[in-house]
Amino acid sequence: MIHSALLLLAAAIPPALLAQEAGRELSPWQPGTLEIHQISTGRGNAGLYILPDGTTMLVDAGENARKTERHTPDRPDASRPAGEWIARYIRHSLRHEAQPALDYVLLTHFHGDHMGDPSDASPVSRSWAYKLAGLTYVGESLKFGKLLDRGWPDYSYPADLEDSATKNYRAFVKWQIENNGLKVERFAPGRKDQVVLLHSPKQYPDFEFRNVGANGEVWTGVGTATRRHFPALETVPRADWPSENMCSVSFRLSYGEFDYFNGGDIPGIPSPVYPLWQDVETPVAKAVGPVDAAILDHHGYIDTMNEFLIATLRPRVWTLSVWDSGHPTSAVWHRLNSTRLYPGPREVFATDLHPGVRAVINGIEKLASDRGHIVLRVSPGGGEFRVFIVDDSTESHRVLKVFGPYQSR
Ligand SMILES: [Zn+2]
Repeated sequence: MIHSALLLLAAAIPPALLAQEAGRELSPWQPGTLEIHQISTGRGNAGLYILPDGTTMLVDAGENARKTERHTPDRPDASRPAGEWIARYIRHSLRHEAQPALDYVLLTHFHGDHMGDPSDASPVSRSWAYKLAGLTYVGESLKFGKLLDRGWPDYSYPADLEDSATKNYRAFVKWQIENNGLKVERFAPGRKDQVVLLHSPKQYPDFEFRNVGANGEVWTGVGTATRRHFPALETVPRADWPSENMCSVSFRLSYGEFDYFNGGDIPGIPSPVYPLWQDVETPVAKAVGPVDAAILDHHGYIDTMNEFLIATLRPRVWTLSVWDSGHPTSAVWHRLNSTRLYPGPREVFATDLHPGVRAVINGIEKLASDRGHIVLRVSPGGGEFRVFIVDDSTESHRVLKVFGPYQSR
């Protein structure tokens, strides 16, 4: 009797989750499951999303050109550029597909740690039209369906983007449109139809990808209406114009009861004697509301994670995409852990905490994990989710720790 009862119990648990003890390779994605992989490279931000019907999305593929003692080492190691490590990680994670591809690629903003910053050492594409670093490297290896960014088609807000990394990215975009049929759109705040399930949307009617903000235009939380948060440029001294980070894309992803927030590198704490509208987090958080999991804005840097955003999002799980001694700051860490901002437990996971941060921040040992790829796996229907920490020192994809299940609210 007991034996058959146990068998029945085992059959009720999705096999993908059952197989997932620490020490084994992360099991493949299963239909109905939502996965968010925060990939650790030591060179920037990269997130792979596998949506419930298998639609795939990459959010950023950073590759900083420089490494100093303020940065953690390359992960797994320096034998390949970050863009190549990311492409290999994606291929492995999409091994359930005969031909792995990225249905959507979303670039939050035009900085090297999010799109790749080519150096003299970066290889040149087969076409010779652009260099391979970060996102352009991934694009050489995997087909992109639709690319969304904040600048298409003129890349002119708040001023023409003329830096070498953006020029390289634009050369990639142009070549891919002309030769590979790439579709490109400007990320439009307020909409919920720019990223949709492509395979079986009717099977998952409670999935939603909501564009929240970009370029100072922020969703109001009602319908698709937006509001301009930045003043008109002609009324602002040039020294106070919105920065690249302020223009970052932000979005909310929902699956049943589960909600997730990503705000790119938006700031929420203006520099001293700068205008208050440079706080982008507050209007964005107002639109987003409470979530179950979120990534820290701007890697938990000095100008982010204001009290209003933390108290409003109030997630159970925070993830940190980090590799720099300024990620996170002591003040950000203390706000994150404040039970006055919101009550109840919370876990914080970091991709690669710099040893200097560990030495300086009081209480940082409370981090649930300080290194590894972070995989959020949301169960079919969205009711609960787990966090897997996956070894980033090799390509074993071995699960080091398992957290949860957490109930979605
Ligand atoms: Zn960044």
